[in-house]
Amino acid sequence: MIIGMAETGLSYARYLAGLGVRDVLVMDDVQSVGRQAAFSALLPDAEFGPIEEAPLVDAAGVYVSPGVPLATPAIANARRAGAAIHGDIEMFGDLKDAPAVLVTGTNGKSTVVTLIQQILSTGMDDVRLGGNVGTPCLDVLVNQADSYVLEASSYQLELATNFPAEVAVLLNLAPDHLDRYETLEDYYATKRAVYNNCRKAVVNREIDPALQAQVNAEKVISIGLDEPRHQHDIGMRDTAVCQGDEVLFNSADLNIAGEHNLLNVMAAVAVGLLMDISPATMLPAVRAFKGLDHRGQRVAESRGISFINDSKATNPGAMLAAVTGFAEGKNVRLIAGGDAKGLSFNEVAPALAANVSAAYLIGKNRDNIRAALSRFVTVIDCEDLGHATAAAYQDAKDGDVVLLAPGCASFDEFRNYIQRGEAFVDAVREMIR
Ligand code: ADP
Repeated sequence: MIIGMAETGLSYARYLAGLGVRDVLVMDDVQSVGRQAAFSALLPDAEFGPIEEAPLVDAAGVYVSPGVPLATPAIANARRAGAAIHGDIEMFGDLKDAPAVLVTGTNGKSTVVTLIQQILSTGMDDVRLGGNVGTPCLDVLVNQADSYVLEASSYQLELATNFPAEVAVLLNLAPDHLDRYETLEDYYATKRAVYNNCRKAVVNREIDPALQAQVNAEKVISIGLDEPRHQHDIGMRDTAVCQGDEVLFNSADLNIAGEHNLLNVMAAVAVGLLMDISPATMLPAVRAFKGLDHRGQRVAESRGISFINDSKATNPGAMLAAVTGFAEGKNVRLIAGGDAKGLSFNEVAPALAANVSAAYLIGKNRDNIRAALSRFVTVIDCEDLGHATAAAYQDAKDGDVVLLAPGCASFDEFRNYIQRGEAFVDAVREMIR
């Protein structure tokens, strides 16, 4: 049984087809002819239906996509009744033929795994990148890779609580996904499990100073923006990024802005060191890295005003990181709002005040956001993203930054964060033409 008919579901179909399995039921509550055709091309005998409990219990294997909550009653009941439930990251741990780096965290995962692949590729021929970042992990599994770099969301980690990582990384923890977890502690515990069965680890000492001592691994490197306390740890001495007393590079050498990205680079460099890549070997890749689209990308400049697209900031913590990272004084005009996923903006609101001169609000949950922010910053209600961009530009002065960092999911008004980012870029280009 395959549950979920999107990309991970298709990767299960390819995997099962490769094993010669024929008798497969593909379950999803939303069926489409196009999707069915894609599955039938891989598994000609596949049948299709909604997610139902009875067939799951006796199935030889149940392969669940991360988009479908394990709390879905049919799945939860079948699991309690002993159904053989699998997830792709857990399967990958059993099948892999080379060391794998496993990265999770609330924010920065895709940025970091991309840089890790580039760093490892300075010293290895065949480094495969997969998981939540794009290509499902089973699709990157090959014979004779040198190493794998996998991004795991918390949903994927729910079924991978014992992944044998060569290096495990938990980048950060901040409130998110309260639409799928009952409490934040449930969400955080799922992520912390990344360390359960690792050989080496990268630990962010800003999450919790005690975490480093709790991680059971042969080698641990901690990262943080303070000074490194131990010889193997990474941190800052003035503007230099150091491991212990040794200078690795200067923060001014980087091509990516913001303190959050400095931490991201530290995490990737720490993985490189744990995978035996020398600082001199990896440095060109570190210097060249410019980050990913829709994550703090400078779009344009006009009248001394710059426009930055951080559409991927989909929770309050990412929003705050973007604001703090790209501000120069109190010069940010912040475009925010969307589907808040049940998250509160009360915690980040006071910290935004230092850098935000006005917030331009859009989307479904703008009332909650306004209520949280309006004690600390000027708040302006806008009809949509286009109007918000125009209003921010109109109000902006020389040296201001118009920043799209919504702090919310995009699904109320857009297909995804990419479409939202592109709409912002189009609005900016149209406006300053
Ligand atoms: P993920 O794959 O975890 O969603 P991305 O690399 O796509 O992470 O970045 C998502 C957003 O998170 C960025 O656009 C930025 O706003 C924010 N961000 C990136 N790195 C960090 C960090 N280290 N701490 C907090 N926020 C971050």
